[in-house]
Amino acid sequence: MTDPSRRTPILLVEDDDDHVEIISDVIREAGLKDELVRATSLKAAEEIARRIRPWVVLLDLGLPDSSGLATAKAFLNRLPELAVVVLTASTDHALGLAAVRCGAQDFLSKGRLSPEILRRALTYAFERRHLQLALEGKQRAVEAFASIASHDLRGPLGRIRTLGQFLKEDLDIPPGSEASEHLRLMDQNVHRMQRLIDDLLRFARVGKEGLKHEVFPLADAVDGAAALLAESVEASGAEIAKQELPNVHGDRGLVENLLQNLIGNAIKFVRNDVPRVSVQAEENEREHVIRIADNGIGIDPGCLSKIFEPLQRAVTPTEFEGSGLGLATCKSIVEAHGGRIACESSVGHGSTFLFTLPKASASATGERPDESI
Ligand code: ADP
Repeated sequence: MTDPSRRTPILLVEDDDDHVEIISDVIREAGLKDELVRATSLKAAEEIARRIRPWVVLLDLGLPDSSGLATAKAFLNRLPELAVVVLTASTDHALGLAAVRCGAQDFLSKGRLSPEILRRALTYAFERRHLQLALEGKQRAVEAFASIASHDLRGPLGRIRTLGQFLKEDLDIPPGSEASEHLRLMDQNVHRMQRLIDDLLRFARVGKEGLKHEVFPLADAVDGAAALLAESVEASGAEIAKQELPNVHGDRGLVENLLQNLIGNAIKFVRNDVPRVSVQAEENEREHVIRIADNGIGIDPGCLSKIFEPLQRAVTPTEFEGSGLGLATCKSIVEAHGGRIACESSVGHGSTFLFTLPKASASATGERPDESI
């Protein structure tokens, strides 16, 4: 992507001469000194864009060789790295929004152009696309790492485990001996490493395959998560109480994984007590707010902002096992659904994790839920 301080042209894709004149005037008034290059059709726009690499593209959707959303889709599919601001007629708010959902950075209605609005839209479009590309690069690096981890680390780890077993048998190591204890610790560490790899893979893959959208009873997802946690529920005697829970809209597998992480933590981070977990939900016009409360050790409020970051933990690994990827995975899952996640806690007084899931109607219209948590 081009550095904005060394600006290259703005590409204006517009076939109407009168509109070009008006837009050029506004660009001049906005103090944007970039050279303005014009294309009058989609085909020409693609050719020119490939050649001149504009720092931003102003794209009219009604062109001689393409019209409406198809124009934005075609251009963005073929030149996805460019920052595109779509030009619409003043009444086409829905069309502009649809173009943004296809990857355009913004939309401007031609009838309401002002130098200030235009300068802001173009500059933000460039900056946003620049940041998105950097993030996409990081995401690719994480995925590449995850795939290396899965293929190149799993194999040797499995072999270490098997070789440990062979050693035990070959040397006829008696149970309870020091050597047997060393082999047990080796096996335990290999097991931990395998879990870390699994967690890392799960984290890297959230939402990569696209969300499956369905409506399902949240209570069933809680039961599914509890079944996956059967071993720790049984070992700890944990009680999981769920109040009346609504039907929710989203990817059932991911929501179950989210609940498994949150309920699993609620059971794990308890000292000298039987874990008691409660799952409740309330709703407002746009979203469901789900709360998972526990009677565990609680979290220092100073740590609350970092626990959702990958590999961040607020406990010592010797006391509580874990990879520090569970809540980061939860955050990715919730955000992939358009929701938010937060935690209320204090040391010694348990924790309550809250997450929101937009209702089907709100996610369809793309409205932002209220930002109260
Ligand atoms: P892990 O459980 O593998 O340590 P997570 O990402 O799930 O990693 O959680 C990050 C950290 O947040 C934990 O290490 C712990 O310090 C804290 N935490 C998460 N859930 C709870 C909980 N229910 N009660 C107390 N602390 C918690």
